[in-house]
Amino acid sequence: MVDDMESFYSMEAKTDDVKDTALRPLTLRDFQGQDKLKDNLEIFIKAAKSRKEALDHVFISGPPGLGKTTLAGIMANELGVEARVTAAPALDKPKDLAGLLTTIQPGTVFFIDEIHRLKPAIEEMLYVAMEDYELDWIIGQGPSARTIRIPVPPFTLVGATTKPGKVSSPMYTRFGITLKMDYYDKRELIDILNRSSDILKIDIHEEAADLLAKCSRGTPRVANRLLRRMRDFAQVNGDGIITKAIVVNGLNRLGIDDKGLERHDRDILRAIIEKYNGGPVGAETLAISVSEGIDTLEDFYEPYLIRQGFLKRTSRGRVATLRAYELLKIDVKDNDEGQGILF
Ligand code: ADP
Repeated sequence: MVDDMESFYSMEAKTDDVKDTALRPLTLRDFQGQDKLKDNLEIFIKAAKSRKEALDHVFISGPPGLGKTTLAGIMANELGVEARVTAAPALDKPKDLAGLLTTIQPGTVFFIDEIHRLKPAIEEMLYVAMEDYELDWIIGQGPSARTIRIPVPPFTLVGATTKPGKVSSPMYTRFGITLKMDYYDKRELIDILNRSSDILKIDIHEEAADLLAKCSRGTPRVANRLLRRMRDFAQVNGDGIITKAIVVNGLNRLGIDDKGLERHDRDILRAIIEKYNGGPVGAETLAISVSEGIDTLEDFYEPYLIRQGFLKRTSRGRVATLRAYELLKIDVKDNDEGQGILF
């Protein structure tokens, strides 16, 4: 087991994704899982196309790596329009937004990632653009300042977020279509792994794909990353074929257990139990304790730990559950001051 390696799952660096744009599905047909969401979207796309109108604005929420950016690309592709991709922090000044919106083709899918992080001034500008396809532009300063309206081509705003609760309600209500993405089940992840293996020309055994799917945290990005690492192990330690033995050994080397938890997950739980007596502990304090960014903690690690029943979010902070004590083989009695598990 490699204990001093960086978090395998760290979502900050999407480097592998960049390398493997080949794995990004381009059509709804190739997009695995999320069937209900896909069925609805297919109808909305068909309807917009037959009316020759821009698709209504789309709001997509869900944890990182589930395919929000991919879906925006698919929408553009299926509609036969261009896609423009940006993230809220890149839209610093009104001119950044104006620069983008005044140079798009009619019907463009305009994707803004982390839409909950838009500055209020940009958000207000966007309201008018979304509703009227116009921009309010202020000319001059002080008493002589005046506002002119600049027309922009009809477009579809696709706003994605890992934190839907942080999106203002005036913003949220301007989206005609809202899609909530959820973790993928094992069968869907196996399909994703098999599709990626075909594209990358990797030979993978059925039980190996099964095990990888189980350890992928319900997340396609994680599944694809694990697949690439297992390919490395298979090439160096085996004959290039990903067998179950290669996966068992590879996961062990990466410090990933059969539930998909890595060292960092265990560090988070251990910190709550050992430093804060099981909790409750505030998210910011916890993030500092484990040297992790608050966003990565809240968006990536916590949702999965909660889903697996190791962690609870309470109004007073994060609490380790009995399962977490069992996982780390810590006796509750040795550590019962905080009584966190009673919450
Ligand atoms: P998000 O924007 O939600 O963080 P991305 O759209 O960047 O996630 O997806 C991460 C990676 O996972 C993509 O590179 C893509 O290859 C893969 N992926 C995501 N969803 C699917 C899916 N439903 N089917 C196949 N591959 C997927």
